[in-house]
Amino acid sequence: MDETHDSKLRSWVEVDENSDFPIQNIPFGIYRPKGGGDLHVATAIGDYVLDLAYLDDAGLFNGTVVEGTEVFHEPTLNALMSMGRKAWKEIRLVISRLLRQEASNGDLGNNKDLRNMALISMNEVEMQLPVDIGDYTDFYSSKEHATNVGKMFRPDGEPLLPNWLHLPVAYHGRASSVILSGTDIVRPKGQTKAPDAPAPSFGNSERLDFELEMGVLIGAGNSLGEAVSVNAAEDYVFGLALVNDWSARDIQTWEYQPLGPFLAKNFATSLSPWIITLEALEPFRCSGPKQDPKPLEYLRNTKDSTFDINLEIYLKTENMDSDQLISSSNYNYLYWNMSQQIAHHTITGCNLRTGDLLASGTISGPGKDNRGSMLELSWLWTKPIKLSNGDERKSLDDGDTVTLRGWCQGDGYRIGFGDCTGTILPPN
Ligand code: CA
Repeated sequence: MDETHDSKLRSWVEVDENSDFPIQNIPFGIYRPKGGGDLHVATAIGDYVLDLAYLDDAGLFNGTVVEGTEVFHEPTLNALMSMGRKAWKEIRLVISRLLRQEASNGDLGNNKDLRNMALISMNEVEMQLPVDIGDYTDFYSSKEHATNVGKMFRPDGEPLLPNWLHLPVAYHGRASSVILSGTDIVRPKGQTKAPDAPAPSFGNSERLDFELEMGVLIGAGNSLGEAVSVNAAEDYVFGLALVNDWSARDIQTWEYQPLGPFLAKNFATSLSPWIITLEALEPFRCSGPKQDPKPLEYLRNTKDSTFDINLEIYLKTENMDSDQLISSSNYNYLYWNMSQQIAHHTITGCNLRTGDLLASGTISGPGKDNRGSMLELSWLWTKPIKLSNGDERKSLDDGDTVTLRGWCQGDGYRIGFGDCTGTILPPN
């Protein structure tokens, strides 16, 4: 850790104690002013975005890796992400020093014109999908989630399939429909078949669900043919963001054998707008669950490789005034960590590229109120969730809004992820 992690650091920008974006966070996103303008790279501080392109134009990144690259003028974070860990750390340090209380008379704090231009209220901006995502892989790394699903779908067998404890199971997802938080979700149509029906039928999905997941965004990639070792895997990670992997369970149940989900998950996957770097998460590094049996050598970490990130799911129906917490979980419940996922993904020589998204799979925990999907919360649609206004849900109705939140609790500050939200619209 370094000076940017000091829990006593405060900014000359006012930041509430419960803000997701204190000076210790320094996330990266893409924004433009409401009503139009160029897309720029920004960080977040309190209730403001800070435009890094304007800071670069003013010479505040002179003498750093940024100088002459125009990397903050790009419409996505990909160029910044491809620069690698050393560059990200240098940029983080510059931003941290500009925003500190003691820099209130510094190059940014004391430059009123620049401040007025670069520091913009979040109410006045539109965030954009921050990353041009080339490939999207979805893991299935929560033992509790896989066990719950196994118990529901294969009640007479072992809940976990024989491979599950030996490798991080995954499938290749659909990148084109990864969308920014806040984008509406149109209820999909498809082919379904009830177990007792003689033939499949076509219609609206009646079992729409969310999945609480964390996304890993790849920074610098690896070359084709070159496996990434489990202990070097974090060097390839730019940062994390919340993911909701919307799922049409009735479509999934009928289509998924033998090759896994296809249309049940290809219509929308929501991503939160700010990428939280591994640097910001470093103070919250911790160990994950004990792995038994011991994984094969190429999957064996020698250091703590996960992070203590609180996760929450909120639901708001059309009849509710505010959203209601329906489940909470933690990133460190995951059985397989991101380093193992990357080592496994690349062990064949598969090349990860800048901007690739690796989602964790639904993150459920040990308790009934730690379940990361409606499928589990309602236990295969048998136990409706009762909401404070009297509404009940087994799966999502039109007009429902699901919001995922995540944060690490520090001493007097928290590293938050911002919201990952979406509202269900009726089918087209
Ligand atoms: Ca998933």
